[in-house]
Amino acid sequence: MHPFAYRRAQDADAASALAGAAGSDVIAGGTDLLQLMKDDVRRPNRLIDITGLPWTRIESGPAGLRLGALARMSDVADASAVRDNYPVISEALLASASPQVRNMATIGGNLMQRTRCVYFRDVATACNKRAPGSGCSALDGENRLHAVLGGSADCVATHASDLAVALVALDAMVLLRGASGERRVPLDAFHLLPGDTPERETVLQPGELIVAVEVPAAPHARRSHYLKIRDRASFEFALASAAVALEVEGGVIRQSRIALGGVATKPWRARAAEALLAGRPPVPATFVAAADEALAGARPLQQNGFKIELAKRTVVRALHTAAQGA
Ligand code: SF4
Repeated sequence: MHPFAYRRAQDADAASALAGAAGSDVIAGGTDLLQLMKDDVRRPNRLIDITGLPWTRIESGPAGLRLGALARMSDVADASAVRDNYPVISEALLASASPQVRNMATIGGNLMQRTRCVYFRDVATACNKRAPGSGCSALDGENRLHAVLGGSADCVATHASDLAVALVALDAMVLLRGASGERRVPLDAFHLLPGDTPERETVLQPGELIVAVEVPAAPHARRSHYLKIRDRASFEFALASAAVALEVEGGVIRQSRIALGGVATKPWRARAAEALLAGRPPVPATFVAAADEALAGARPLQQNGFKIELAKRTVVRALHTAAQGA
């Protein structure tokens, strides 16, 4: 491992200043970063430990839910306010990683986790995200696990977070803090498409940190569900996943939310599919039409064409489950 200095930030301003310096990486739970450092993918000169900052609270009220960036995944998944009012968040967290990892990993870190593309994590291979301009080994290589939505000629890596998919479905906002103060960004706009700069994954500016995630209260949030399909039953990343929420009134769908994971280069909100559901009865034919719409723009690579049908079936099943409780 590349040698590094360690600094524990005493307050948010110090954390931001230290994190903005060249060669710094921020560490909280460390469940992703330490592995990247061991594999030489990340070689920071300085680690800025932010675990002493007061950003651990889980707060719920009439306006919505607020999750501190340093709240542990396991604590959020177990919180009754989350389980009862935003089940899709709890379900997405419980489908993530292992219990040991969830006990360490934080909400902010989960949103910042790096792709599981094997080439990104193997420094002996070409990868535009890790080494800009070096090429993309996945385009003509092992790409069974890669994206069918949102890819570019420079990168087709999927985003790995289950939590982000659930939060995007619920219109979450991310509260950021940097040298010029605080700002709020819709989570849907926080992660970037790869385009020709796949090394740039979020809108975070140097020194900016995630303080919290805010989720607005909504009737459909209580009737939400996360379904994750993967190669094995636990401690595995999604081949396809769907976060859905439904509000049904008078036998028709009033509000819906659909987001996809495991198939796109960022947490993927399917707004056209949501529009298609509006005013229709919650029946299988409606759900199939929405799933077709959600995957209408999908572009398969050589080995991952199966993901398109898999993702459609995942959306249909997730909507069916949500409708049972609606
Ligand atoms: Fe790198 Fe992206 Fe290509 Fe994977 S898909 S090798 S992360 S550029």
